[in-house]
Amino acid sequence: MNVVNNGVIDGKAVAEKVLAECVGEINSLKEQGVVPGLAVVLVGEDPASRVYVASKVRKCAELGLFSRKIELPKDATQEEVLAVVEELNADAQIHGILVQSPPPKHIDEDAIVRAIDPAKDVDGFHPENVAKLTLEDHSGFVACTPAGCMRLLQEAGVETSGAEAVVIGRSMIVGKPMALLLMSKAGNATVTVAHSRTKDLAAVCRRADIIIAAIGMAEFVTADMVKEGAAIIDVGINRVEDASANRGYRLVGDVAYDEVKDKCSVISPVPGGVGPMTIAMLISNTVKAAKQSL
Ligand code: NAD
Repeated sequence: MNVVNNGVIDGKAVAEKVLAECVGEINSLKEQGVVPGLAVVLVGEDPASRVYVASKVRKCAELGLFSRKIELPKDATQEEVLAVVEELNADAQIHGILVQSPPPKHIDEDAIVRAIDPAKDVDGFHPENVAKLTLEDHSGFVACTPAGCMRLLQEAGVETSGAEAVVIGRSMIVGKPMALLLMSKAGNATVTVAHSRTKDLAAVCRRADIIIAAIGMAEFVTADMVKEGAAIIDVGINRVEDASANRGYRLVGDVAYDEVKDKCSVISPVPGGVGPMTIAMLISNTVKAAKQSL
């Protein structure tokens, strides 16, 4: 299957490839008596979180992983969430734990993340795993979305070594780990991290051979910000009103896809680009956690 068609990176195809690799590892783990297990904790009723959690659990079932979904009410206390994490830390059937973000406002998310056993932190958000990424210690877990972006670049044949890469966004979930991966020995790129205070962002972006857009603003990166032939990975997921769509909205990325598509060498679309990769990398991290538990 082609991973790039007319310059458009097929995230679903790459995700299928990652998951096919996982299936081989899952089968070999099962032969050794281990079924990889993922626990997903949902606090509250955020509709988007519900959809994400359901799709993660469904993917586990499809691939023969064990999964547990733990739902807590929106008024669950910090102590109640921590008690669930502690129970999962001690559960030998569970190799990966994920507390779906964002939890309700009264929950201290950082404290919850720090309470997860780093060996089960398949989201890669625990400080120990962030440190391992920085140190290029490959026993740690890398955040799923940036790990997925790296894999998309590799599969699309984008040369990162020596390339000028601009990451727009500095979040702990996407921007920062993305920059670390690109500058690591696996990426060898020269990395600029741009953010809300960056001066003349357009000029910064025009230098880039690779742009990773993780801003959260619909169609923010326009053609005038893109160098001819650049590779673009669009992480953004934004809803824009669309009366012609059944749901009354459609999803767009952080890149003005229609005008940028013809200027760049490759681009990941929204939807169908980074999104499918995030869940594939979550499964991959869970399998890795199960292997490392042996
Ligand atoms: P965030 O809000 O935590 O971070 C956004 C970043 O954009 C910030 O670092 C900020 O400095 C930067 N920014 C804001 N305004 C800017 C401006 N005018 N110019 C330059 N930089 C600016 O968001 P996040 O969690 O990193 O997510 C970013 C986007 O990626 C969102 O649309 C989110 O929905 C999407 N996302 C997608 C996936 C996926 O699986 N596809 C996963 C995570 C996040």
